[in-house]
Amino acid sequence: MSAKKRLLHRYFSFFAICFIAITLLELAFGQVMQLDQSFSPLLFPALTIFLLVFHVMVAGFMLMKYMCDKKHLYLVAIACAFAGSAIMMLGTLRSFPAWFMCDATTDANYNDAIIFFTFRNMMMAMLFVASIVLFRQQKWAARGAGFHTIIVSGIVFFTLLMLTMAYLYSSYTPLLSVSLVDNETHAFTALWNHFFSWLLVALWTLTLITLIHVSQLKSIFWFSGGFFCICYIFTMMFLLSDRNSEGLGWYQARFFEATSTLFIIFTLLYDIFNLYRDSQNKYLHSYQNSIRDPLTRLHNRSYFYDTLVKQLTEASAFRPVSVIVSDLDHFKRINDTYGHLQGDKVIQFVASILQQSIRQDDVAARIGGEEFALLLTNTTAQDAQRIAERVRLTIAGHDAATSQQQLPEPITISLGVYTATHPSLPAETCVERADKAMYRAKEAGRNQVVVWQE
Ligand code: GH3
Ligand code: MG
Ligand code: MG
Repeated sequence: MSAKKRLLHRYFSFFAICFIAITLLELAFGQVMQLDQSFSPLLFPALTIFLLVFHVMVAGFMLMKYMCDKKHLYLVAIACAFAGSAIMMLGTLRSFPAWFMCDATTDANYNDAIIFFTFRNMMMAMLFVASIVLFRQQKWAARGAGFHTIIVSGIVFFTLLMLTMAYLYSSYTPLLSVSLVDNETHAFTALWNHFFSWLLVALWTLTLITLIHVSQLKSIFWFSGGFFCICYIFTMMFLLSDRNSEGLGWYQARFFEATSTLFIIFTLLYDIFNLYRDSQNKYLHSYQNSIRDPLTRLHNRSYFYDTLVKQLTEASAFRPVSVIVSDLDHFKRINDTYGHLQGDKVIQFVASILQQSIRQDDVAARIGGEEFALLLTNTTAQDAQRIAERVRLTIAGHDAATSQQQLPEPITISLGVYTATHPSLPAETCVERADKAMYRAKEAGRNQVVVWQE
């Protein structure tokens, strides 16, 4: 599929999923409506509290994500959008005193509620656009601390400005005022119906178009952002369809706002899960690299010694710990005759035989150039000797054909065995004794197994 087709396919999926989700939400809301036609006057403030908590959570998530990687300046704008929104919702809640105080004497102030709603929407939509622009211009983050501070200050200043404006226009101060709802009749004014409601629709539509155009909905994060914008556009449609501020549109709007915010929260949780999984994989990968030899993927020398030290603490006559040290015979000749690369193949081939000769709890390690060690737990000297003999015969039994050209010619190996039956001996001494036994095998003519004896 071409890139353009893939993009169109993604856009189509986005709108199809949004359409299905909104239809389902509408159906769910319709079902709730059938239960009861009139809601408790406390339902609206209760839903607002839910939404407030959700928005505080999203703001916190975004801020923490930004703190983890300060290159992502766009997260500051989103964090401010949700934090500012949560603060404005506090203003909305104060407009409905009955949810908090039993003997509330003042009636709900619908005009204040819609003033906070309007400024909240304007602030969020504009900060979203700012965030999308910052996402597009990620290289700005590399421009230095000064530039970074200016952008962050600008975002915070804009948020504070919108909060102050909402506060000044509300009934908290007599300085400025605007009437969007008549508090006597609860009817929307012409200013709301003909200007502000359409302004908000236009702002959210502009945000949605910018978001889709810039992010191309490449990640689930921007996908949820797009769904959020669509939900807010629908929210405005519900409010536009109401003639007065007590209509069902407000409940519907809150329902949509809460659902789309929840979706963003799930997206963030998914993001965290992905980060956790990635870091876990990276950790496992680098841990394996730190304990394994890169050429053969056998364990390395330090892992071998660490495990041997641990195993020796439990060594006894009933739980003997055996060490086999081995060295390829006349390996220098292989290198000199066939080259270093072929020499490496021989080492890899021998390593695979050693790995196949042991149990899962045992350790096969490369402790030198063409020197290997096996750590066999709970294995007596006789059993260890048998295993060493089997390894020796297997290696000596291969030639170029049976090894798929890994061996240019048959090779042999000398092995020394030492078995510890008490925990007092240091790991170095155990390996030294197995090594001495191996040298005796070399001296005795190579291609043989020698068990260490005093
Ligand atoms: P001996 O039977 O006495 O062990 O004879 P040898 O020729 O095997 O002697 P020694 O064990 O001292 O030789 C080790 C050689 O292994 C020397 C070095 O060139 C080679 N070697 C060490 N590490 C590597 C490696 O990673 N790759 C390859 N190709 N060769 C290696
Ligand atoms: Mg050798
Ligand atoms: Mg050697």
